[in-house]
Amino acid sequence: MSTTDVLVVGAGPAGLACAATILEHSSLSVVVVDAGHGPGGQYWRQPAPAVGADALDPAELADLHHDRARFDALLHRLEQGRTDGRLQLRSQHHVWSAVPDMQGYAVHAVDRGRGPSHVPGSTTVARALVLATGAFDRALPFPGWDLPGVMTVGGLQALLKAGGVVAGRRVALGGTGPFLLPVAAGLARHGATVVGVYEANRPARWLREGRAVARNAGKLGEGAGYAAALLRHRVPVRAGRMVVAAHGADRVEAITLARLDRAGHPVPGSDQRVAVDAVGVGWGFSPQLDLAVTLGVDLTPDVAGTEVVAVDDAQRTSRPGVYAAGEVCGVGGAPLALTEGRLAAAAVVADLTDGRVPADVVSSARRVVTRQRAFATAILRAHPVPAGWADRLAPDTIVCRCEEVTLGAVRAAIDERGARDARQVKQLTRTGMGWCQGRVCGYAAALLSSGRPGPAVERLVAAPVPLGTLGALAEPTARPSRRTGISDDAM
Ligand SMILES: Cc1cc2nc3c(=O)[nH]c(=O)nc-3n(C[C@H](O)[C@H](O)[C@H](O)COP(=O)(O)OP(=O)(O)OC[C@H]3O[C@@H](n4cnc5c(N)ncnc54)[C@H](O)[C@@H]3O)c2cc1C
Repeated sequence: MSTTDVLVVGAGPAGLACAATILEHSSLSVVVVDAGHGPGGQYWRQPAPAVGADALDPAELADLHHDRARFDALLHRLEQGRTDGRLQLRSQHHVWSAVPDMQGYAVHAVDRGRGPSHVPGSTTVARALVLATGAFDRALPFPGWDLPGVMTVGGLQALLKAGGVVAGRRVALGGTGPFLLPVAAGLARHGATVVGVYEANRPARWLREGRAVARNAGKLGEGAGYAAALLRHRVPVRAGRMVVAAHGADRVEAITLARLDRAGHPVPGSDQRVAVDAVGVGWGFSPQLDLAVTLGVDLTPDVAGTEVVAVDDAQRTSRPGVYAAGEVCGVGGAPLALTEGRLAAAAVVADLTDGRVPADVVSSARRVVTRQRAFATAILRAHPVPAGWADRLAPDTIVCRCEEVTLGAVRAAIDERGARDARQVKQLTRTGMGWCQGRVCGYAAALLSSGRPGPAVERLVAAPVPLGTLGALAEPTARPSRRTGISDDAM
């Protein structure tokens, strides 16, 4: 077991900015833990380490990373912290549990950097814990979505950024949200023919968001940049269209698109078939709440009804000593995550030391957060999941891919056996009981059974842990979970 003043979970923009700011304005020790193979998170996702003649030159992917100078500055600050003996960055460490401890919080992680046959565990006790765990992208089922070649938009982006892999030669993107644009532009620049970006919502929805747009004029420039890139590569962008099916024998060969009416339902007779060899469909992001839920911090719904970590204007959660920053507090983009990371750092420094981050830095960060949160809310309002997302599902459409549960089985649980939420659907059908623990199908199961995103699910073990690793924990910290009363040493 080791100890530190502050443990930051997540080395994305929020976690990196938090750690760098703490190092700069205090003498506190900091441990940053991240499941990825290097710092950067989703926004600055790094290529996987590779050796040999086929090893990827990171320079080939440089165009996919915006704001690289800021990333380098953060890494430089962390490197100084490492040299001073105040910072440890533990990549490929997955935190599977964080629980209160006499001295603060005990954080259990597994080290996945040494191969699948040797997965040592570690426990670090920290006086303060910062949750900067980000988000994951949200999928909804449709006929054929389980074919090879059908991915989430984030999946396509991750393949490109982490491995330089362009997932197909003819690629279509669907779903909703501004994230479709940079992914389409990146794929087109790296050689894919992007046959279309099919945005479910219409631009007119943005007319109601004039105030948020006016306060964030820089975002317009960003959008215009992507629009110009798509124009250059002749990528058509069609609004009010949805991917309603994927077709193919062994892998995806074509998709069917439908036009949506004003209420968000597919218009009968509007189907159009498009040949593709890869398709990415994404419906926004869900905050990565596993650790937050188990710690029992308060959550709050965003405007779309998705639960996010509730924080005060200094990024403190409802639990003393636990702070949160970035997309775990609601999806809003990397600049917002960076600023929230700095604010969380200011709160940690104020709570744990006699020092302070300068007041003007804090108040300016607060103004940025308020402004950008307003824009994030506007995005959610302008890009909802359409009401008719499930109209074209068939009884044999798979909803839970891990357990191969069909829509027919889910509907039977709802209509014949009275399931009213995702948890009851899970108990009756095994939806969400497989490897992904409902991270992929949970949102759909909640919408189908209750018509809204369900409450965040408690997963006492946030990542798969080998039994041998659990057994090797000398003295597990036994603390009951607020929601279930189950101690973590009972697992
Ligand atoms: C798949 C995907 C791709 C995206 N690509 C882009 C993009 O190209 N451009 C863009 O502007 N925005 C992108 N976004 C949005 C983007 O996530 C943010 O704007 C930004 O990266 C948020 O920063 P963050 O620090 O809050 O979270 P993230 O960048 O997501 O960082 C969170 C980090 O926490 C780590 N983590 C989570 N749980 C644990 C755990 N239990 N143990 C250890 N580590 C953990 C993760 O490995 C991750 O590195 C993407 C989002 C997703 C989900």
